Amino acid sequence: MGHVIALANQKGGVGKTTTTINLGASLATLGKKVLIIDTDAQGNATSGSGIQKSAIEKDVYDVLVHNEPLANTIVPSSHAGMDIVPATIRLAGAELELAPVMAREVRLENSLSGIRDQYDYILIDNPPSLGLVTINTFSAADSILIPVQAEYYALEGLGQLMNNMKLVKQHFNPDLEVEGVLLTMVDGRTNLSTEVVDNVRDYFGTDVYQTTIPRNVRLSEAPSHGLSIIDYDPKSKGAEVYMDLAKEVLAAHGE
Ligand code: ADP
Ligand code: MG
Repeated sequence: MGHVIALANQKGGVGKTTTTINLGASLATLGKKVLIIDTDAQGNATSGSGIQKSAIEKDVYDVLVHNEPLANTIVPSSHAGMDIVPATIRLAGAELELAPVMAREVRLENSLSGIRDQYDYILIDNPPSLGLVTINTFSAADSILIPVQAEYYALEGLGQLMNNMKLVKQHFNPDLEVEGVLLTMVDGRTNLSTEVVDNVRDYFGTDVYQTTIPRNVRLSEAPSHGLSIIDYDPKSKGAEVYMDLAKEVLAAHGE
């Protein structure tokens, strides 16, 4: 059975999408079968994995709102061994459309039955909000991976995220765990960045990955080519650290 990991932080721009694509591609490079589910209406994980918007027939909106079987929405990404369930702007209306619907919190979870055993790792990229879509991803997930940007207000809002996680545990998914906390855009040369890294390690303890992600311009260039960093520039620092992260994730699962 595949491990289902939701990448979440309601703050935008902290590296959720970058980590979803590049951790996914790194796990696939290490021989794992990976599925990415994009649940952000911006569709950045979709375009960043090489999927043309015009080529998308069905997307995650159809799964959540119209009970489309997940299998009908899966397409191959630009990285071998990594598939993706795309998201489009249609998803923007899903919060309202889901409100009156039966079992609205567990639609994604239900759609995963039959798919879970076809993949080793299923990574869910989340929107920068904590609404019904995120409740669906937390209900479907085994664990949550929290990217935290090494900046002054890094810890702000994380209490809310942990509280949402607690609520989903109580009502829908008692076994939900923290997969890990990933420090992103770390600049080891500044005192501020170092201080934030220390604060996050104090707050989350051993849940924080040893691997941290530095700022690397190649990581920000890759998505516009529809490529993961592994395909765009395999010798870059960005590729090296995401491969390190993938190995750390595998080790945490005894692999
Ligand atoms: P989120 O999904 O949390 O909103 P993104 O992954 O889209 O965040 O990252 C926000 C922006 O920062 C993007 O333009 C992305 O290319 C860039 N970025 C992310 N991680 C890094 C990094 N380690 N180094 C440089 N740029 C990065
Ligand atoms: Mg994103």
